[in-house]
Formats: sequence, C-alpha cells, structure tokens
Amino acid sequence: MKRLRNVKIVATLGPASETYEMIRALHEAGVDVFRLNMSHGTQDEIRQKHSHIRQVEKDLDSPIAILADLQGPKLRVGNFVDGSEELAPGDMFRMDLDPTDGDASRVCLPHPEIFQALVPGVSLLVNDGKIRLNVEECGPDFANCSVIAGGTISNHKGVNVPDVELPLAALSEKDLSDLEFACELGVDWLALSFVQRVQDVEEARALVKGRASIMCKIEKPKAVDRFEDILDACDGVMVARGDLGVELPVQAVPPIQKRLVRRCRAAAKPVIVATQMLESMIESPMPTRAEVSDVATAIYEGADAVMLSAESAAGQFPIEAVTTMDRVAVEVEADPTYAQIIAASRNVKGSSVADGIVAAAREIAETTDIKAICCFTQSGTTALLTARERPSVPIIAMTSQLGTARRLALTWGCTCLMTPELERFKSAVVNAARAARAVGFATETDQIVITAGVPFNVPGTTNILRVAPCNERLIFSTDPE
Ligand code: ATP
Ligand code: MG
Ligand code: MG
Repeated sequence: MKRLRNVKIVATLGPASETYEMIRALHEAGVDVFRLNMSHGTQDEIRQKHSHIRQVEKDLDSPIAILADLQGPKLRVGNFVDGSEELAPGDMFRMDLDPTDGDASRVCLPHPEIFQALVPGVSLLVNDGKIRLNVEECGPDFANCSVIAGGTISNHKGVNVPDVELPLAALSEKDLSDLEFACELGVDWLALSFVQRVQDVEEARALVKGRASIMCKIEKPKAVDRFEDILDACDGVMVARGDLGVELPVQAVPPIQKRLVRRCRAAAKPVIVATQMLESMIESPMPTRAEVSDVATAIYEGADAVMLSAESAAGQFPIEAVTTMDRVAVEVEADPTYAQIIAASRNVKGSSVADGIVAAAREIAETTDIKAICCFTQSGTTALLTARERPSVPIIAMTSQLGTARRLALTWGCTCLMTPELERFKSAVVNAARAARAVGFATETDQIVITAGVPFNVPGTTNILRVAPCNERLIFSTDPE
C-alpha cells in the first residue's frame, strides 16, 4: 500500500474493529501495523483477527506487520455485572478476591500477592491513572478504598500500585502461554509489557527463538533508568505513556519520550509513541487541538510510528482516527521545519561499509534529482540503516523474505515490496526500476539510487551503490552486469 507519509500508523484491534471489512478499511485508510492486545480477548478471538489481517494482506498484496502485545505483570480488575460502574469522589469501593462479578460497591482484583503487599494509605490507580483510590483498610483478601478521583471503571481495567514494589515475575503463566500461541500463529513483533531488566528481554528471546522481533514497552521507572542496556537487547521500543504516566509523574513523560525517540533513531531500531494520542476520538469524530499537536510532536521528533489504542479498539470512530493521524502526518512532513528538525537531529555515523553506503545513498538522493532509494535487504538491516538516515526521498525495501517485509512495515519511510531471489545485480536494477514505477514514486525519465550486497543472499554484505535510470532500455544499454 503506497503511503504519502514516512511515519507509520499502528492501530489496536478490539470490538470496534475486528471484522474483515473493518480491518481492510483501516489498512486502506492508513494502518501499517495492527496491534493485538493479549490482555483483552481469548486466544480464539486473537486467532480470528490474525487470520482477517493475513487475508487483507493477501487480497491487497500489501505486507502488514502484526504486533502481539503480552499483558505482562499487569494487575487488572475482574468483570462487572453491568460492564461498568461510575465512581465518584468520596465513595467507598472495595477490591477483593471474590470472583463473582462486581457492582457499584466492589470488584474482584484477582491477585492475592497484591493484598499481601498493601498497607493503608497506598494509592491504587485504575485505567491509566484516571481513577485514584486510597486504601483505608486492608487484609489478606480485601482492600476497602475511598475514591479520591472518580470516573468510569469497567471490565478488565488495569490497576497500578506505584507506591509499592510488587513481587511479580516478568512473564506470568498467561504470558508464557500467549507468547507460544502468538509465535505459533505467526506474528511479526512481540511486545513485552513492564520490562524492568535486560534479563526480562533475554528470557523472552530464548522462548521466541527467532520467530518474532522483540519490542520493549517502556512503562516502568526502572526501564527508563536502564534504557541503554534494554535498547541494546531488543529490536524495537514502545514509549507506553499510559502506564509510564502512572508510574512516574505525568510531567516526566514528555522529556522521556524525546530522549527515547532520539536514542532509538540513533540505534536504527523502530520506536512507537503510544497511548491517548487521539483519546477524545473514542467518543468524538473530531480530535482536540492538543491531541493533533501531540501527534504532530511525535512526528517532528522523527518517531517511526504513532499508535491508536482504545480509539481504534473500542471507540466509535476508528477510521476517522486513522484518517486524522494520516492527515497530520502528511501536513507535518511537508513542513520545511520538519526537514530542518530531522536533519539537525541526524546524529550518528557508524563505521561499517553499510553505514557508509546508506549515508552516501541519502547524500546522492538529496543532492541530485533522485526519486527513491531502493535497498535490497534480506534480514532488513540495510533498510533499518537507510531509515535511520531519514532521507527526504521514499525508501523502497526490496526483499525475498515475507517476514522481513512485514517487520519493516513498522519502520519509518519503508515501502516494502517482495522480489524473487536474485542472482545478478542487473536483475536487481531492473526490478528496482519496475518497483519504483509500479508504486508511483518514479517514471521512465527518473533516476533512483539502488543499494545491495553482492553476492546476493549473504546477510550483512551491503557493498554496492548504483544510480540507475528507471527506463529499462537505458538500464540494458548502460549497465555492465
Ligand atoms: P495496555 O496497558 O496493554 O495498553 P490497555 O488496557 O490500556 O492495556 P489498550 O489496548 O491500550 O489496553 O486499549 C485501551 C482500551 O480499549 C482498553 O482499556 C479496553 O477498554 C479497550 N480494548 C482494547 N482492546 C480491547 C478488546 N480486544 N476487547 C475489549 N476492549 C478492548
Ligand atoms: Mg500499558
Ligand atoms: Mg493502553
């Protein structure tokens, strides 16, 4: 699917968006990556969504990334008889271990270890901190709380206890089962929630066994402190602002977002800015000015992707939310200030041949009238390095590996196309020219830059840079091999 922007859009699927028709419409409206949140819905429901996405991918011949998000050690309340209840400041509300559905006075919090750790005076924060409860009285199987900040509490909402260190494993029994399920199903990215240590990433990687790339959700103060090591260990990052803004004061989130995005860009690892980006669009077809500005800010910073959570999963206007993000992206990326900011924050030069080639490809493309950079990539690394350059022309990632094309759907600026396994460089040039014309980035009279590694099919050998015409007669008359 050709996009007129570089930043990618991630959308969470849920009750508002789980049919084939809706998933297809969301992809056509601009979604590049679908997020399946393992916290909500059964494995059968996840399997159904996965199969719809793959069908859309096939029908539209357009590689799509699927991101499965593991719940991690997150506390959640149980269900309510009526699905939800309103809590007002001053009300009393009880959390306990009774598995029966909740009402206006109580709900189940099915985590015995939490009640052990609670003491009076501790805060419980519900639904990304929107509701604040104060523990007045507690025992081994209950906590009676007063409502400090009220709101709607509904089935399965998350609960944070930032004041208390909770004795929870990084991967719960449910996570282990979901991880294996998602890998077997064939997802492209696996997101780990509440990562705190490099060992959490290594533990997951040992279980994933190369079947998916690993994304770390940064939502704990410890993960912020240890970010450099965690970044080294993972393949991508999500700035998970919902829980981060509960675990830390909300005003700590923007500086962290800026720093993380910069560090990920420098490391050539994709970074998603997530949570509440267009929150008001859950109920309104129009975003607030502040939300539009928030999306724009993430794009100006050079994030790889912006994400929709409840807006697309459970909101009334999923398509409108995607269209809004798409329009904001097109507008921002056309702004000359955007190009200045991106250029000023391009801060890395590696020392490998591939680093030199991708930097040269951008220089050439931006110096002369070149329409696209086509990079032949097997593992995806060259495409990631090219994207790190944040060039002003489109990147066409050409690969024979479907998994690579899908994974790169998350990466800034990459349009991913499948190509057969090639033997000779001349076929690569011809294929690249055809691809650039087919997606509409170039015409017969244009030129493109091509990067590749010869011999083909040996990973990590990017060693060729060629400026080529898009006209096949010219290619055959000028290209030696
Ligand atoms: P996380 O911490 O992993 O982001 P979350 O509870 O915030 O978990 P999101 O995926 O961010 O979940 O979605 C935001 C809200 O949208 C959820 O709280 C829930 O109310 C709703 N939602 C999302 N997916 C589903 C689903 N599959 N079924 C029901 N509700 C969903
Ligand atoms: Mg979260
Ligand atoms: Mg969320």
